[in-house]
Amino acid sequence: MAKTLSILFVSSEVYPFAKTGGLADVSYSLPLALRELGHDIRVMAPKYGSISERKNRIHEINRLRDIPIPVGENTALATVKSSSINNPRSKVQAYITTNTNYFDANKGFYADPSTGVDYEDNDERFVFFNRSVIQTCLLLGWVPDIIHCNDWQTGILPALLRLQHNDVFAKTKIIFTIHNFGNQGDFNLESINRIGFHESHADALSHKEKVNFMKAGIHFSDCITTVSPTYAKEVLTDQKLSNGLSDVLNRRAEKMLGIAHGVDLNTWNPKIDPLITKKYDKSSIEDKAPNKETVLERFGLPIHTDKNVPLIAMVTRINEQKGIQLILDAAKDLMSQDIQLVMLGEGDHSFYPQLKALTKKYPEKFALKIEFDDELAHLMEAGADMFLMPSLYEPCGLNQQYSLVYGTVPIVRKTGGLADTVRDYNPENGEGTGFLFSDYSAKSMIQAISRALELYKNPEAWQALVINGMNEDHSWGRAARQYSELYRALMKDTF
Ligand code: ADP
Repeated sequence: MAKTLSILFVSSEVYPFAKTGGLADVSYSLPLALRELGHDIRVMAPKYGSISERKNRIHEINRLRDIPIPVGENTALATVKSSSINNPRSKVQAYITTNTNYFDANKGFYADPSTGVDYEDNDERFVFFNRSVIQTCLLLGWVPDIIHCNDWQTGILPALLRLQHNDVFAKTKIIFTIHNFGNQGDFNLESINRIGFHESHADALSHKEKVNFMKAGIHFSDCITTVSPTYAKEVLTDQKLSNGLSDVLNRRAEKMLGIAHGVDLNTWNPKIDPLITKKYDKSSIEDKAPNKETVLERFGLPIHTDKNVPLIAMVTRINEQKGIQLILDAAKDLMSQDIQLVMLGEGDHSFYPQLKALTKKYPEKFALKIEFDDELAHLMEAGADMFLMPSLYEPCGLNQQYSLVYGTVPIVRKTGGLADTVRDYNPENGEGTGFLFSDYSAKSMIQAISRALELYKNPEAWQALVINGMNEDHSWGRAARQYSELYRALMKDTF
């Protein structure tokens, strides 16, 4: 049997402790799936003010109390606590960094929830967290084979490991997974001192006159992954999609790989989901109906008993990336169709007034909830007939995969992970799992929705399409094996 590896998986969001989006789901499911492959994997994350220690069974460990952490010229204390993430088959140790000033005092993770404005000291906050990761390894006497970093919040960790702690971690391989190039952790150049680096490293740590944590991660890691094969290709060539980092990536292109996520079938599975009104599987698709009723009730939309009106759902961060503008552009056309549309999300406040205005204009057809509600997200996946993701770009996307598992037909823009995970319906042979459109335009989106609505009128053909999606294997096993192989290749220096 292949040797098991020791892996530290570092992330700013790990479900169920903290979640704003897919990163949290991945940071929960992938470590558990890797544990099931036999690896000694542990996760580490910060404890924000909104996380309850009691509810999450987070407790102190004597050895990791009041650890002095240098932040620029100052020192702050980290107390690293212990918890675990679990599924019915396995358990993974979690280390949670606590500090009142940087984390506990803030309810938001990266931005003030009341204004949506980023915290001013995000550079210090995450450098503090990244340094606490290193100190934890040193105090535990644990030098992992692999340190797996995720997104800009951990982008400075590879730089710290290689520039300041390589005596201990020379043999540790560092992998940096980029879930989204949209946010890179960029700060003004004075940040170099604040985060405790010498100016001679400014070139490696900065990009376009800014300290850039993501660039640092790309530069100092042994391997970079993004979260789908298509997104990996797109960001190498499209400066817009890489948010200006294509050149930096191209310098490391041979060390780059795209691996699409899977679905955690312990959490997202209509057969066993405790959060939905009625459980079902592909032999009882009619049991989606009670879930649909609950969704309509929760959103205050009328339940039509005389006709079958398709329900389209969106569970989404509300921002430019997720294509909210297309919904606004297409609203008139969309609302002229015989549909109901429910949207759950939060994010960019500037979209709120226009979306709210639509709910007033079309009170029977469009309903919106601006909040984060995990239970409702599950219900919507179960109750909706179609799931809409008109993303401007989509690194991987989980919701379209959840939709396939829940027999809810995805209508998605052909970009990034959406292009990799949804197959366009072909009326000639009935193949495919959803509806795709290419142009980022209201017209193109409406065309795809119209194709879906047309097929919906034919219950038999629709059901066959639903079953196509439910028959696919979207479990984490494939992705976990790919990561496992990558780790081994890194250890053998063959990647
Ligand atoms: P991203 O990571 O870009 O936000 P994904 O589709 O990969 O998009 O993952 C989003 C995850 O976050 C899904 O699990 C989705 O259900 C969840 N989610 C997003 N917004 C909300 C919300 N307002 N309430 C509940 N869950 C949400």
